[in-house]
Order: sequence, then C-alpha cells, then structure tokens
Amino acid sequence: MMQIETLIVGAGLAGLRALHALREAGIDAKVLEASDEIGGVWNHNRYPGARCDVESYDYSYSFSKELEQEWRWTERYPTQPEILRYINHVADRFDLRRDVVLNARVTEAFYDEAAAHWVVRTQDGQTWQTRFLMLCLGQLSAPKLPDYPGQSSFEGQVVVSAEWPKGGVDYAGKRVAIIGTGSSGMQMTPIIAPEAAHLTVFQRTANYSVPAANAPLTEEEDREVKANYAVRRALMRNSPTGLGFKPEKIATLDVPEAEREQAFERAYQRLGFGFALTYPDILLNAEANKVASAFLHRKIGERIKDPKTRDKLIPRTHHFGTRRPSVDSGYFEAFNRDNVTLADVKKFPILEFTETGIRTAEAYHEFDIIIFATGFDALTGSLLKPAIHGRRGTLLKDKWAQGPLTHLGVATADFPNLLIVAGPGSPSVLSNVMVSIEEQVDWFVALLAGMKSRGEVEIEATEQAEQDWTAHVQERALETLYMTADSFYNGGEVAGKPRVFMPYSGGIRSYRRLLETCAAEGYSGFALRKTPAAAQDAGVQQDA
Ligand code: NAP
Repeated sequence: MMQIETLIVGAGLAGLRALHALREAGIDAKVLEASDEIGGVWNHNRYPGARCDVESYDYSYSFSKELEQEWRWTERYPTQPEILRYINHVADRFDLRRDVVLNARVTEAFYDEAAAHWVVRTQDGQTWQTRFLMLCLGQLSAPKLPDYPGQSSFEGQVVVSAEWPKGGVDYAGKRVAIIGTGSSGMQMTPIIAPEAAHLTVFQRTANYSVPAANAPLTEEEDREVKANYAVRRALMRNSPTGLGFKPEKIATLDVPEAEREQAFERAYQRLGFGFALTYPDILLNAEANKVASAFLHRKIGERIKDPKTRDKLIPRTHHFGTRRPSVDSGYFEAFNRDNVTLADVKKFPILEFTETGIRTAEAYHEFDIIIFATGFDALTGSLLKPAIHGRRGTLLKDKWAQGPLTHLGVATADFPNLLIVAGPGSPSVLSNVMVSIEEQVDWFVALLAGMKSRGEVEIEATEQAEQDWTAHVQERALETLYMTADSFYNGGEVAGKPRVFMPYSGGIRSYRRLLETCAAEGYSGFALRKTPAAAQDAGVQQDA
C-alpha cells in the first residue's frame, strides 16, 4: 500500500494547481489520473472547434508572475490544443509530472474512522492510504449519452464529443449527424459543415448564443495585458463571475430604449458570455430578461436566411441565461449552407437508430458518422462515479440521492478529510472556473497547513452547517430566474436526477468572502479534531 499525506484525484487544471500549491506549502501530495495524459476535460474534448469561451488571459493560472509573463496566448479565446499545450507547459515548468500517476482510475475510497485516513483503490489494483482526499474531478466531465432504441445497432462510426479520439475523425465527404446543440455541438457545427458531404444537426432545445469576438492577440495587446496583469486579476476576483467586468448599476428597464440597445450592441459585439452582465437584473427579473432575450432573438434571426430554419433556431422556450448560453463562431450561419439540415427532435422525436442511420417521427436519415454532443452529468456525475464510503460505510451516492449536500461546496458531513474542488455548492459552472479553482485550492492549502501546525488530524463539515448552506444555495437560486428552466445547473434535464440548484449563484466575490470568514472564525461549520471522532466516541463509551 502506498502512503501519501494528500491524494488528489484528477490531473486537470484543478488537480495540477492543487499539487503545486500543496508542494509549495510543504505538504506531500500525489495526483491519480484516470487518463494516459494530463489535462482533464481539455485532454478529452478534442472535437473540432473546441475552444474556451473565457478569454485566454483570464483562463490561466495567477499563482506565478513569471508564468504569466512568459506564456504567449495567440488568440483572444484559446483553442483546446492551445490550452492543452499550456497545461503541459505548466506541468513541465513546475516539475509536476513526477507526482502524477497516469492510468490510475479511482474506483473506490473508504474512510478508516479509527485512523482518520482514506484508503483509495484504483482500477488497476493500486491501493493508496492518505490523510486527505481531494477530488478535482471536474464539473462537466462525466459524459451523458442518450439511450435510443437500436442505438447500438448503428454500424457507422459513433463519436462522443467529450471523448473525441486523439487521432481525430475523418468526416470529409461523409454524412454526419450531430446530436445536441449546447456549446460543444454549436462549436463543432461550423467546422464540420464545410467538409462533410452532408451535416444534420439534431436539436432538442434551441440555444442562445453570442458571437465570439475572437481574434489573434497582437504584440501590443499582449504587452499591455502583461504590464497590467495584477490589476486585471484583481478585477476578475472581484467581479461576480470571475470574468473581470461588472454590470452597470442600473435596472434594465430604467434605461431609455435607444441607450439600452446601444449597450446591448456593445456587449454583444465584444463581451461574448458576458452579454448577460450588461445590466445586473437580466438574470433576476423576467421583464428585464425579456428585453435582453428579444435583442438576441433579433440578432440570431439576422444570421439565418431560411425563415423555417430561423424559426426553429431562435430560442423561445427559456429565459436567456437560465441554461448555459454558448459563444459561437459561425454556428447559425452554417445553416445557410445547402449541405446542412436542422432536425427538430422536439417536434419530431428520434424514434430509433438503425444499422445505417436515424429514424425520426418526420424522416429517415442515413449517416456514416453519428456524433453525440449530448453533454454531461453535471457537477455530481464525476464525484459519484467512484464508490466513496464515509463514516459507518455511508456511500456518497446514497447520501446525495436527493441532491448534493455540502458546507460551502467544499465538504460534506460523514466524509471527514474529503475535500471537493469546484463542485456543487460552489460558484463552479457559474464562474470563470479558473478563478474558482484557485480560490478554493488556496483555501484548502491554508486549511491543511494550519491543521498540520496545530496537530489536527480530522476536519468534518457539521450536519447543521451543510443543511444551512444547501438551503442558502437554493435561496440564492430562487432570487434568480435559474429555476424557471430545466438545465444542467439544476439536474432537471436528466431523467431521474433530483431537481435542485447545484452551483452557488451568489457570485465569486461573495463566495470568497464567505470562505475567508469561515477560516477567520476558526473554520465555522466544521469540526476540527486532534483525535479522530471515532476514537473520541470509543473513549466516551469506555468512560461510561
Ligand atoms: P450541453 O450544454 O449540456 O448540451 C447538450 C445538448 O445535447 C443539448 O442541446 C441537449 O438538449 C442535447 N441532448 C441531450 N440529450 C439529448 C437527447 N437524448 N436527444 C437529443 N438531444 C439531447 O453540453 P455541451 O454542449 O457538451 O456543453 C456543456 C458545457 O460544457 C457547456 O455549457 C460549457 O459549460 C462547457 N463547455 C464549454 C465550452 C467552452 O468553453 N466554449 C465548450 C464546450 C463545453 P436539451 O437542451 O434539450 O437538453
């Protein structure tokens, strides 16, 4: 059995950041990574057009001024290969690889209550013993696939966007289907369309999207950002979503129409995802949202020539922003091509897959390749894949059967020393996740360093604290429009998943303050112990 002070699971952006920070604090750590390569979702999502919709300079680590200065991003929004190169550069630059174990998929973890440590098993038979188990498993990393009649009978090539083959997919001259019109489907559509013989996009819910104002980054821009990086970082940390800009402090409907249109236009042309922050109440007030949505309906409509296709592509079934909008480069225009068809599966559902294609209630389509861009079992999917057993053998999956329960999104009662990064109960998918990761990791490192110096061996969220926090997460969500739609934020789009709002919608800045206050209060809502609770319980029983 191998032993280590802290075991991190997942060598993506979070896991590598945690490894580096723990090492700097003198805490031994290793990372177990299921894949044969580091990079997490940026290793797996190699589909054509994959790109981050947070700006390069902001989707990067802030812990090293040297790293900030030496890395040269080439485009405003970084592509998947560039992000993966960056991650690999960081791993080499800070000599991280020696503490990363590849091909080590964690399947089970058991908390040994008497000894206050975790025993962790991997698929290939390794056993690890660790005091702290830190889950850096990603919030959108467990792919979710449909289950249509005859799905496995299709004899052509089947590809999943989030498990894209490293060698690529040869779709040139082929009849291709894309199922799903979230960010992944929307990003790959305009890249695949010009090469495929024919592309059919299966849409269940029309999705909002704002064009990515992408462009190469000039030397001048690079110099300017690097000269002022500290200011930029401070703006990010203090903005609601970690994107570096704040809404104007005025209600949408209080702004004269012409002025509002101009503000929307400016945001639309430049801010991408940040369009939602043009005014502070767009995600809070249905009337304000209606105005922003109407602007986008017009803009999307202008991009599509055929009136019938236009009508299907304009999202009218949910408030803008209540489901994750996309930032695209030519998605809607792709439908102006003769070789691209939109199949509306809400109106004409998919009935079955056959050996050669897909039958819907409207038509039969033959394909050479079917691509599933059907999203993820968000936020909880990756955390519940391994069987994690806490105190008294409690299984995390059972404990969270009615939805995730956490204190501050970082820990859950009955699972001492289990630390969760960017998971449910934290800003996670509602933020620039880089900022979220760095804030949480640094908080954890300070916690573990403090515990070490005080001789504490166990930290556990109290049940009261996690009930209060989980209720607070729901209350904050109900102040917004988020619960008016089924989405991966609330699990409503997955049959059988409890419909509860999972990320914390109170903003990255207030979340950081809550973490800081918790630490300043001696980790309020947590029990910190010098001897394991189980040993204390045994002692009490003996005394009695
Ligand atoms: P997604 O946003 O969850 O979209 C999944 C799509 O598949 C939706 O259109 C969904 O329809 C459809 N779908 C699911 N099951 C289906 C079924 N049985 N039949 C037909 N359609 C089905 O997933 P994603 O596009 O992979 O993106 C997930 C998230 O990952 C993004 O929102 C983003 O946070 C992140 N991401 C980011 C980037 C980026 O940074 N640019 C790129 C890719 C992904 P419904 O809408 O009707 O459920």
